[in-house]
Amino acid sequence: MVQINRNYLKLKAGYLFPEISRRVNAFSQANPQSSLIRLGIGDVTEPLPQACCKAMKDAVEEMGTSSGFHGYGPEQGYPWLREAIAKNDFQARGCQISADEIFVSDGSKCDSSNILDILGEDNRIAVTDPVYPVYVDSNVMSGRTGDADQSGQYGGLSYIPLNSENGFEAELPLEPVDLIYLCFPNNPTGAVASKEHLAKWVNYANQNNALILFDAAYEAFIQDPLLPHSIFEIDGSRNCAIEFRSFSKKAGFTGTRCAYTVIPKSVHGSTANGNKVDLWTLWNRRQSTKFNGVSYIVQRGAEAVYSLSGQLQTEKLVSFYMQNASIIRKELSSAGYKVFGGEHAPYVWIEAPKGQNSWQFFDYLLQNANVVGTPGSGFGTAGEGYFRLSAFNSRENVEEAMKRIIRI
Ligand SMILES: *Cc1c(COP(=O)(O)O)cnc(C)c1O
Repeated sequence: MVQINRNYLKLKAGYLFPEISRRVNAFSQANPQSSLIRLGIGDVTEPLPQACCKAMKDAVEEMGTSSGFHGYGPEQGYPWLREAIAKNDFQARGCQISADEIFVSDGSKCDSSNILDILGEDNRIAVTDPVYPVYVDSNVMSGRTGDADQSGQYGGLSYIPLNSENGFEAELPLEPVDLIYLCFPNNPTGAVASKEHLAKWVNYANQNNALILFDAAYEAFIQDPLLPHSIFEIDGSRNCAIEFRSFSKKAGFTGTRCAYTVIPKSVHGSTANGNKVDLWTLWNRRQSTKFNGVSYIVQRGAEAVYSLSGQLQTEKLVSFYMQNASIIRKELSSAGYKVFGGEHAPYVWIEAPKGQNSWQFFDYLLQNANVVGTPGSGFGTAGEGYFRLSAFNSRENVEEAMKRIIRI
């Protein structure tokens, strides 16, 4: 009989979101009249920017003509999109990233998992705790971890706690590591990284020949102009970092699908006998073999994000969500909750009150306020006792949810 990949059996069977659904469904069945407000899911709610819609409509029309038809495009993305990205997202901020170091894709979720294809199996890996579950699960699936222990932590991974004691700053690992996943602004804690914080990691990586996988999916939500949007704003990063970016949260592309990965030509890894190999060449080979590019229509939509109207519309979108975050922060702090994040990220991270654990607080909010959030423990052991509320919702729902939480 055909053999399966037994690494999949080590996975903690997608515990978090199914368990939330189970509890929400049970509650709704018992209380059919109640109207629930969901501040749990990390998906955007506002419509696409008009500039993107218009560009995609035009591209569809073009595709229906013989002169404007496009078949397979370059696997790395069309040059006009790669150039717009390099210029606007990097060169404008003083980062030396060129268009051919940008690889356009259909999502950061896949890129941040697929990157393991070009990296060795024996790398020592560090993730933060709590963490975006994709980094951990993709390592489990590809056989790079041991089994999970009682607390849900996998053997072979180094966990770097993010908590209120360390100000949600990722401290350097106590044991040596080769591969480090960092996500700032952070999902789920809503924390942001300063230049000093990132420089500490870049120095570590350069001194230890390690690689940083930097997820900047939420960079557009940064409000303070002095904070870094990219790891490439840090000196020395061109030798030790790869960055993932996405149009999902910034421009509402979660259903449209477009993202990109930046691999500087100067980042190298090593073969077993110590020869240096550049990662750009390996990723280029991987993408050309296993990926056929993002649709022309969608890439035209992503390009429109950089037009004058597209920039204004995405700024408006981001500021709408950030006003939601600020309402959540303000209302909950004045009601006595300890809140973190939400200033440079669309997530507010709350300490569950009265010593409740994450799931107890989940049930408490569900039962008494009919508000659904995400238990912090679902993102890792160090998330226990915390709770994530997302700012991705209508103003009306956010205001109503806050009224209900404050009343209880
Ligand atoms: C939403 C999100 C992404 C974006 O994923 P896409 O596949 O591009 O939609 C990446 N990283 C984190 C941490 C996210 O929360």
